[in-house]
Order: sequence, then structure tokens, then C-alpha cells
Amino acid sequence: MPPIEDFDPKPRRASVAVDVGGVIVGGGAPVVVQSMTNTDTADIDGTVAQVAALFKAGSEMVRITVDRNESAAAVPRIRDRLVRLGLDVPLIGDFHYIGHQLLADYPDCAEALAKYRINPGNVGFKDKKDKQFADIVEMAIRYDKPVRIGVNWGSLDQELLTRLMDENQANGFPLSARQVTREAIVQSALLSAELAEEIGLARNRIILSAKVSQVQDLIAVYQMIASRSDHCLHLGLTEAGMGSKGIVASSASMGYLLQHGIGDTIRISLTPEPNGDRTREVQVAQELLQVMGFRQFVPVVAACPGCGRTTSTTFQELAQRIQGDLRKNMPAWRDKYPGVEGLNVAVMGCIVNGPGESKHADIGISLPGTGETPAAPVFIDGRKAMTLRGADIAAEFESLVADYIDKRYGRKTAAE
Ligand code: SF4
Repeated sequence: MPPIEDFDPKPRRASVAVDVGGVIVGGGAPVVVQSMTNTDTADIDGTVAQVAALFKAGSEMVRITVDRNESAAAVPRIRDRLVRLGLDVPLIGDFHYIGHQLLADYPDCAEALAKYRINPGNVGFKDKKDKQFADIVEMAIRYDKPVRIGVNWGSLDQELLTRLMDENQANGFPLSARQVTREAIVQSALLSAELAEEIGLARNRIILSAKVSQVQDLIAVYQMIASRSDHCLHLGLTEAGMGSKGIVASSASMGYLLQHGIGDTIRISLTPEPNGDRTREVQVAQELLQVMGFRQFVPVVAACPGCGRTTSTTFQELAQRIQGDLRKNMPAWRDKYPGVEGLNVAVMGCIVNGPGESKHADIGISLPGTGETPAAPVFIDGRKAMTLRGADIAAEFESLVADYIDKRYGRKTAAE
């Protein structure tokens, strides 16, 4: 037999843990899911509603734009409203250009935020750049807040890029322009972190990110940063795009990095459909971590794709209903049914793989395919438990899933 290689995920890269408003990021802690609002932060009602929706969907931290006086003034009021709603969600302030001024002019905003995100490419220009960067770092030290130094190649430090391009030219172009750009992104993040530490920000108050929009570039720059530092890392593919393209590109790049132990927190930057549901990015981030086996958030429904043996849309509808119900109920179930996120349900279309897959699940159903007797065997804990027939198969199976969850995960009272 040829030697068996180890195909399991690589051990998590050792990174410095950072406490973001009570949520530990890095240092081996579970990979944290985060998201960002797209409301005007000055719109307090709208922002509170969206932060609440993102948090309830499972976003463990939420970033909001702080772009002008009105937004900075709104931040403490948003924080207070969320606290009154019982939602203890760390808020991250996203600053560009005038963050140093806003944090100085609105101390309640500086206090209310759990983390500041700054972009070294647009924190200031020429001689003002280092001064304004230092002002924000000093503010973070004063308020004891962590900082994410978030490089984005859409706003890359042009002075640094030009210098590296010139050096490459002087050396006879050993690197391609793309390689030099990657190096500039990496250096921008690492040099900024070095500067922040020189100013006095502790390493356990710094998170780094280096977002690009191409999958191969993202994989390259994060591997470069991971090999040169132990800073806590936030992963995200910027401008990932809409729908399946954004999901596939984000999952391909971040999946590769996570498999290689790189990444302490993730955000999926999906462009929502017009008036679409912003919480979709949270769902995708959770599903990425769950399908890779890193975390469990919501019970998993295994369903076959269907084929010519599928007689109707019943099984697709049932799979959709079950998955939708499980996700919808999770916020209430987290307390009521501890461990339920590890549940596996199977909804299969015919006898070919139906019984086998259903036996592997905690509870599964194999619906009748073309030419089969109109009966649906149900398997519980690997054994055939019953057969459902008639028009109410879907409702009956839903009720069996609910009973199973209650029996297996319900808290036992002293009398039981
Ligand atoms: S389980 Fe049956 S219906 Fe589903 S894909 Fe396989 S053969 Fe087709």
C-alpha cells in the first residue's frame, strides 16, 4: 500500500490573541465570523435594525462605517440601543481619511466602539500620513481598543508601491508588476503594524488584513504575511461580487487559507441583490466554516441533487423547508437545545442513495423515486424507524425532526 499522506487541515498558525469587546480572535480561538452594515450610520434606527439582524444571524462582531460627524455622533446611541435590546455585539468603527479627527472630536464614539479599523493607504497623505496614523493609534491606546490595520489594494499606499516598483526596475525587473504589488500590500500591513507597536500599541491589540479581489492574489499575500509575522489575521476577499460568483471566490480563497491554518476571523464581502438580505454574508461565512469542519452553527441538511429518478419537487421542497426551519429556529434553540448545531438531517430523492445517506444522518428520509412504491422510509440513528405514506409526508417528517431534537437535545428537568 502506498504511504498514506495526512490530508487533514494543517494546525492553526500560532497567532497573538486579541480581545475585541469580549470576543477572542486568534491565539487558537475558534475562527470568528464578522460582517459589515450597509446602512448610513447616521440613520440610527436603520443601523440598529441591521446590526441586530446580523448579530442574530450569527455575526460575532459587526463593522459600521464612521465617515463623518453625524455618523460618529450616532455610534454611542446605536451602542446604547443595542445594549437595551440585550444585544451585546462588539461594534467595529470603519475609518478612512478623517478617523483621527472623528475619534478626537467624539470621545463617546471612541469609547463605544470595540475596535477601530484603519486603512494605511488612506489614513492621510505625504507628511500627514504618519502623524494621522499615530493619532489614531494613540487614541486606541488611550481607550484601550484594538486596531485592525486593513490594507486594501484598491487604496494601496502609492508611495510604498512606487518605491518598490522603482527598486524592482533598478534591479533589472526580477519580479513581475503583480508580484511587486503583492509585496507592497504585505509590506504596507507589516510596516504599519511595526509603526503602531513603536508608538506603543501592544501586539495583542493589533489585527492585520490585506484584502485583494483576486483569489490567487489573496492566497499569496496571506501566505506571505503568515510566514513573516504572528499577528492575528482577518481574512476577506474584497469586492468578491454578487451571488454565486462572490460565494465561490470567497470560499475558494479562504477555504484554501483556512485549510492551511491561516485566518483568525473572516468576513464574506458579498454584494447583496438590490434590497437583498444583508445577513446572507453571515450565513455563507458560517457555512464555509461548518462544511470545512472548523465550527458548527446550524444543523446540516444533506440532500441529493435530484436526477431523472426524481418523480416530483417534493424532496427539494422538503429539504428547503427543513433547512429553513432549522436556521430560523437556531437563535431560540441555542439555549433550549445545547449541541443541536451538530445535528445531521438527510432528505434524499430515491432508493439509490437515499437509505444509505439517511442511515449516516441522525435522522433522514428517503422519498420515493420514479417507479418506487409511494412510501418514504425514515431512518433514526442509523436504523429504519418507520415508513411515511400519503400527502402529508413533509409535515410528518418535520414533526419527527422536531421530536428528535426535543428528545435528544432538550434539557432534562430534575424530575426526569
Ligand atoms: S438519490 Fe436517487 S434521486 Fe437523488 S440523485 Fe441519487 S439517484 Fe437521483
